[in-house]
Amino acid sequence: MSTPSILTETEVLHLRRDTPGCKERIHFNNAGTGLVSAPVLQAVKDHLDLEAQIGGYEAHDKAMQAYSNFYTSVAKLVNAVPSEIAYIENATRAWDMAFYSIPFKPGDRVITGKAEYVSNFVALLQMKKRADIEIDVVGDDETGQIDLVALEKAITPKTRLIALTHIPTFGGLINPAEAVGQIARKHDLLYLLDACQSAGQIPLDVKKIGCHMLSATGRKYLRGPRGTGFLYVSADVLDQLDPPFVDLEATRWTAPDRYELKPDAKRFENWERYIAGQIGLGVAVDYALSFGPERLSARMIELAALLRERLSALPNASVHDKGAHKGAIVTFLLETEEPSKTKARLAANQINVSVSSYTSSQLDLPERGLTSLVRTSLHAYNTAEEIEAFIEALYPQ
Ligand SMILES: *Cc1c(COP(=O)(O)O)cnc(C)c1O
Repeated sequence: MSTPSILTETEVLHLRRDTPGCKERIHFNNAGTGLVSAPVLQAVKDHLDLEAQIGGYEAHDKAMQAYSNFYTSVAKLVNAVPSEIAYIENATRAWDMAFYSIPFKPGDRVITGKAEYVSNFVALLQMKKRADIEIDVVGDDETGQIDLVALEKAITPKTRLIALTHIPTFGGLINPAEAVGQIARKHDLLYLLDACQSAGQIPLDVKKIGCHMLSATGRKYLRGPRGTGFLYVSADVLDQLDPPFVDLEATRWTAPDRYELKPDAKRFENWERYIAGQIGLGVAVDYALSFGPERLSARMIELAALLRERLSALPNASVHDKGAHKGAIVTFLLETEEPSKTKARLAANQINVSVSSYTSSQLDLPERGLTSLVRTSLHAYNTAEEIEAFIEALYPQ
């Protein structure tokens, strides 16, 4: 990858002017929800107004262009075609629609890693109970990313799926999704990537990564509205999957006793939805594309590296991010304070952070002797000045 040019000062000003939420607060909780930009907010409000004025169905008819723009924009973001994109209300359900579509047989095996998202892992456990599958959790290599050698060794003739979380919810790690894709391809395995934190945080290219299915949410690094998300499913694997739920949007009811699945990723959608949100997410993706996801990414990763450096230099503070490549999430602990206390103290100073607990990372934090961490997560509209103010609030003079 060529070195992307970092955003100019003017572009950062532009980003901040477009972000009403960054005026009064320091928002370091972009892994929770990114702050929506003014164009996204406007698009959502406009559609809600239109619904109130002329009726929801009528508003939908009028907004067809913006509605279908969602598919084109998301396809562009991940380098797919629009027919491979499904609108789904959040990342969890998007992942579920892919995962529960796989016709598992008793004895089938699924490979995953320690970064796997809590909701994905409990779904694996449910499938283990229900269909008698086996779960192979691959450990980390010495850098803390998924161990590629161990991963390949874990593959057996019974392995059906590799389920990987690209960037965990609880740390700075960026898993080597592309290298995992090469292994999946070599062994002809289905590959499902949870890109919930990576969408908008780092550039995504499903062709390069080699995943067949990819799930993401709207509200995090893409800065879309809450209650939105999407699923990418490669046209190549559609026939291997049978959606766990079908409705009038996913199918055509062709005769009293027959239905056909839609010919594309729409078979994973359901009919009723947050239309204003879908439009808003399309606008949010366009907004990211207008700056260039690789350039936004370069800036937030640079800011995160600066924050890690500042935290590491403090007395009684420890940084806990793993991995050969680190992203825009920075986790740390103060020796003298519980993470929830740190969060509350920062909140009193109008600084937003969150806390990651072992209950959402049973495969990772406990093994490292950790019960919870303070999680900060930066976006391109954050600044070095905000990092200094944050450090100041953390260690008041
Ligand atoms: C937040 C998160 C999810 C779940 O996203 P929802 O939109 O809340 O369903 C899934 N995976 C990862 C890695 C996440 O951080």
